[in-house]
Amino acid sequence: MSFVITTPLYYVNDKPHLGSVYTTIICDAIARYKRLLGEDVIFITGVDEHGLKIQRTANEKGIEPKTYCNEISEIFKINWKNWDISFDKFIRTSSNNHELVVREFYEKVKRSDDIYMGVQKGWYCVGCEEFKDNPEDSPTYKCPIHQKNLEWKNEENLFFRLSKYQEQIEKMINEPSFIEPIERRNEIINFVSRGLKDFSISRTNISWGIPVPGHDNHTFYVWFDALLGYVSAISCNATDNLLENSINGGWPADMHLIGKDILRFHAVYWPAMLISAGMRVPKKVLGHGFLTREGQKMGKTLGNVLDPDLLLSKYGNDPVRWYLIKDISLGNDGDFQDRRFVDIINNDLANTIGNLLNRTSSMSRKWFDNKVPNNEKVSKENKLENYAKITVENYIHKFNIYKLDLAANEVLSLAINTNLYLNDNQPWLLIKEKNKLPFVKEIIYNVLESTRIIGLLLLPLLPDLSSKINEQLGSIYKKEVPWEQQLNWGLLVSNSNLPKPNPIINKLEYE
Ligand SMILES: [Zn+2]
Repeated sequence: MSFVITTPLYYVNDKPHLGSVYTTIICDAIARYKRLLGEDVIFITGVDEHGLKIQRTANEKGIEPKTYCNEISEIFKINWKNWDISFDKFIRTSSNNHELVVREFYEKVKRSDDIYMGVQKGWYCVGCEEFKDNPEDSPTYKCPIHQKNLEWKNEENLFFRLSKYQEQIEKMINEPSFIEPIERRNEIINFVSRGLKDFSISRTNISWGIPVPGHDNHTFYVWFDALLGYVSAISCNATDNLLENSINGGWPADMHLIGKDILRFHAVYWPAMLISAGMRVPKKVLGHGFLTREGQKMGKTLGNVLDPDLLLSKYGNDPVRWYLIKDISLGNDGDFQDRRFVDIINNDLANTIGNLLNRTSSMSRKWFDNKVPNNEKVSKENKLENYAKITVENYIHKFNIYKLDLAANEVLSLAINTNLYLNDNQPWLLIKEKNKLPFVKEIIYNVLESTRIIGLLLLPLLPDLSSKINEQLGSIYKKEVPWEQQLNWGLLVSNSNLPKPNPIINKLEYE
């Protein structure tokens, strides 16, 4: 059984912004975690390339849409490599394979009698590629998201019979596990309860799109096309029976992780399309919140857009990941604050985790000849061992329900408690008393062992820092041994060598 997780297919109107980086990092952490549990993960990302907006952007630049898309999709790929994103599939909706999937899918939906020709009239936002339901009916009305005037459209379009699926969709969204978090689910339940309307799946006179078979001047509506990218990503490079190929390759998706602004497409339109084509619906749609900066919405007009490239070059991958994963509760809105960022990185990573590793390994080197001391068991009860065991259980529970912030906090609290254990026992005083040597060995062994487990627990969250910690302990993660097994207490080898110390994280300064 495979575990299929997807980011949205990002629209190629610009390079990745912080919001896309956020979504992709969360998906990456989940994908890494599932792989550690031994699951066969297919992590899909990619780009959505068709539509009027792209056609116009390319025209303004005086290049072909395809040339423009080639450039931007390459930028996306490079970005994800720079962020060390462990994606398995990168799908471009302008690929031949994808076009074949869309055509095959369309034929299936047609056979279910779910396509008809109708007239679509209304105010349209090119930015959203969406008709606005009830804008105040004036040409001066601006899309609240894009701050651009809507355009009047009155054209013949092909429609998909969404209304036919009212009951099935209602039943599906009432399953608590289908849409998370609950606030998002309630929004969708509310939307669906007002009655589903058929929606148009083709546009006329947009050349940059997939042509609708049998309708010369129609191309597929960009959402109908883009959503199918998830299916074509796992249909490999088959040339026929692509849908079946995708099902054999692991469809349905276990999770679509998306921003809350595109929830309706994923939790209502998409499942209905799939049911119509006789395919299984995704198992979960998780809608995360928006990111603000210092409490304000980021935008070009405010000039406060945070460039993820700059963050990456200035701070590196781990600090940004830690902030985004730990400080934002998945599903809620999040705020990026410069001072808070510096404080969190310094407190959590430098002062708590980094310092724990530094002080213990230096004591161990000094007192025990650059070695891990012997695992003496002098005390009746090993409080730190008990604490570590509870932490591992809690962490796995939290991760399994996608509370990544709480899982990160579990790791942090183990580090805090390990520091406290060290402070309470004061081995630097005990070492002066000869008869206390076994106890000192026990303390240092316990602290090193707890740090090893901290390192392993960080593996899906902060892959870089995790390997640095475990390298410093001379105890790296072994691919051939199940990860959960390596989280058992007492596996750090007594009397093994400790490698030369290296700082694993630098403290940040306020600007
Ligand atoms: Zn818009």
